[in-house]
Amino acid sequence: MTYLECTVHCHTNLCDGKNTPAEMAAAAAAQGIKVLGLSGHSHTPHDDSYCMTVENTARYREEIARLNEEYAGRLTVLCGLEWDQWSDENPAEWDYTVGSAHYVTGPSGIRHSVDHNLETLQAAFDDFGGDGLAMAEMYFAAVADVARQRPTVLGHFDLIKKLNGDGRFFDENHPRYRTAALAALEAAAGKVQALEINTGGVARGYREEFYPAPFLLKRWKELGGEVILTADAHTAAGLLFAFDRAAEYAKACGFDRAIVLNARGQLEFCKL
Ligand SMILES: [Zn+2]
Ligand SMILES: [Zn+2]
Repeated sequence: MTYLECTVHCHTNLCDGKNTPAEMAAAAAAQGIKVLGLSGHSHTPHDDSYCMTVENTARYREEIARLNEEYAGRLTVLCGLEWDQWSDENPAEWDYTVGSAHYVTGPSGIRHSVDHNLETLQAAFDDFGGDGLAMAEMYFAAVADVARQRPTVLGHFDLIKKLNGDGRFFDENHPRYRTAALAALEAAAGKVQALEINTGGVARGYREEFYPAPFLLKRWKELGGEVILTADAHTAAGLLFAFDRAAEYAKACGFDRAIVLNARGQLEFCKL
């Protein structure tokens, strides 16, 4: 397989994606993708703004089973999950998981989304008394917690930067920021099968840089980690968004191979 034949971080309209599972599968088959990994946002009791409901989770499983019959021999649809730290889903019950942190818990005890919109990130920042670096430190501690659950893929490692494009919340070059991020990366080493190079923030116009930042991807290479290219696709048109650029980025950071999932859901290497 090549890295253009597998895409494993994809959302449908059963969570916050735009297209149905059937539309995602049709788009995947039309462009020669062999393995479409759907990774709906896991049911997370405190937040119904973007996750699958219990009912939609059941429909998701049924629809994926139906699509695998329809596309047998042409396309495999893996039944994955983007598993959030606060989800009540069992990661072991899915073909694979993308483990993600989407929240920081502030000093008040309130859990704030770091990526939903500027208002939620501002509320987190205010909860930390305007200390954006403390907020980032809390975020990376959450990422390390997710990694300890041993998801297949560790999702959008530095998502906290999504809405910080103008640097208004914290300085991404500050030693405190870098130290916290590197500590989480080191905690993840040996615990996850792959770190994703996620093009979703670029696809949606939030940032010009993929997740994770170069200093993190280079360190991941030094730690002996593997990578997987993902689009965090929320539309059928975005299944392989900027995969060639992501591959070049991985190579520039020292990688010559990436992980793909095959039709049986097993890990394989492909050349970059
Ligand atoms: Zn996510
Ligand atoms: Zn996602």
